[in-house]
Amino acid sequence: MDINRAKHCWESMQKALREQMGEAKYYWFKNLSVYSAEKSLLLLTHPDQFTAQHVNKIYKDSLLYAATAYFGMEFDEVIVTTPAEAVAILEKSRSNTFNPRYTFENFIVGASNRLAYAAALAVAESPGKEYNPLFIYGGAGLGKTHLITAIANYISVNSPDSVIEFSNSEKFTTEVVEAIQHRTMSEFKSRMKRVDVLFVDDVQFLANRVQTQVEFFNTFNELYLNEKQIVITSDRPPDEISALEERMRSRFKSGVVADISSPDFETRLAILSLKCQNEGIQCEMEALNLIAERVDSNIRELEGALSNCQLLAKVEKSPVITYSIARDAIKDFAHEPTGAPISARRIIDEVAAYFGVRSSDILSGKRSREVTVPRQMAIYLSREICYLSTTRLGEEFGRDHTTVMHSLKKAEEMLKDSRDFSQAAQELKQRLK
Ligand code: ADP
Ligand code: MG
Repeated sequence: MDINRAKHCWESMQKALREQMGEAKYYWFKNLSVYSAEKSLLLLTHPDQFTAQHVNKIYKDSLLYAATAYFGMEFDEVIVTTPAEAVAILEKSRSNTFNPRYTFENFIVGASNRLAYAAALAVAESPGKEYNPLFIYGGAGLGKTHLITAIANYISVNSPDSVIEFSNSEKFTTEVVEAIQHRTMSEFKSRMKRVDVLFVDDVQFLANRVQTQVEFFNTFNELYLNEKQIVITSDRPPDEISALEERMRSRFKSGVVADISSPDFETRLAILSLKCQNEGIQCEMEALNLIAERVDSNIRELEGALSNCQLLAKVEKSPVITYSIARDAIKDFAHEPTGAPISARRIIDEVAAYFGVRSSDILSGKRSREVTVPRQMAIYLSREICYLSTTRLGEEFGRDHTTVMHSLKKAEEMLKDSRDFSQAAQELKQRLK
C-alpha cells in the first residue's frame, strides 16, 4: 500500500483507538507512526525505544486485529520498532520474495521458449558473464516470470552467498519514492550496490516514471560496470516501450534479447501433463488433448482451464476429468480451433440465409426484431459449435461483452420458451455439421 494511504488509514485507526481505550492507555499509541504497510507486514515506529518495545510486546495482537479493519488489508504481522531499526526490518521482509515453485525443472521447453530458456539457464549457471543484461519479452501468461524466477531459485541454491534483488517496476518505484520521502536515498543506493543479481520483472511499467527511471539507470550502470548480472522482462521488445529514455533502451539491447511466443500444441500438452502429474490430477488423455487443442492463447489460461475442469469434476463427483467434463468446463476459455471447417463467419451466413436476412445485417447495429433474433441465434450457435469465448464472440460480432452475455441469455430463454426458435436451432445445427 502506498505510504500516504497507509498514513491516512493509521490516522483513522488512531482516532478509534483513542475513543476505545481512553486517554490514559492511548498514551502508548499517541506518538506511533506508520512506516510501511506492504507484503502483509504493518511496520509502526515510535521514536523512543522503550515505548516501541513495550507496545510491541503488549499490544501487537490487538493492533493486528484492528489493522485489518482500518487498512482494509490482511496483515500477517505488526511490528513496532524505532525508525532506525525499521529500515532493516522492511528490507528483510522485502528481500527474496520470489516463488520457490517456479524452477527450471518444471518449465517445459518448446519451440516458443527455447532461446529464452537457454539464455536463462546460461545466466543461472554463470551470472554476470556472457549474457548481460538478459532481456526476455513476450505476451502475458507466457512464462516470463516463471523463467526469471527459475534463475533466481537456481542461483540462491547454488550460490547462497549471492545477494539477489528480485524486483519489478512496482516495487522499484515504491522504494525510490519512499527513499525520497524518508530521505534515505543513500541507504537505498548502498543497498543496491551490494546486489549481485538484479531482477526486474515487467519493466515496461517504468515508462513515464521519470525519477524512478533515473534511479534505475544509475543502479543498472553501477551493477553492469561491476559485472553483476541483470535480468529484465517486459511484455514487448525494448524498441516498443514508449516513453523509455533512449539511453535505457540501448542498455537493454546491449546484452541478449530473447522472446517467448505462444506455445504450440505439443508444448501445451506437455505443460498440462506435467501439471497433472505434479498435482496428482487424474485426466483422460482425450480430455487433455481437447484442452491443449482448444485453449491456445497463453499458459495462464491453460492452467485456468485445467482448474475449471478440476472444479467441474469435483461438482460431478468424478475422480477423473473426462472428455465431456473437459468439454463443458472449457467453454469460456476455448478458442475456435484453427483450420476448423466451421467458423463463426460460416455460422453467420447460414443463419442469415435461414432467416432471410443479410449477413451484414447480423453484424450491423440494427435493433429490429428481424435481425436481433438471427443475431442471438448466430451468437448462440457460435458458442455451441465453435466453443468461442465470450471475448472472441464479442470480436466476431462487433459487440461488447455485456451484449454478448445478454444475447446468450436471450437465446437460452428462447430455446426454452419458443418452439420455433428451438426448432430453428436444431435445424441449423444439422446444416452446419
Ligand atoms: P508471464 O510472467 O509471462 O505473464 P508467468 O510466468 O506468470 O507468465 O506464467 C503463467 C503461468 O504459466 C505460471 O503458472 C507458469 O508456471 C506457467 N508456465 C508458463 N510457461 C511455462 C512452461 N514453459 N512450462 C510450465 N509452466 C509454464
Ligand atoms: Mg509476469
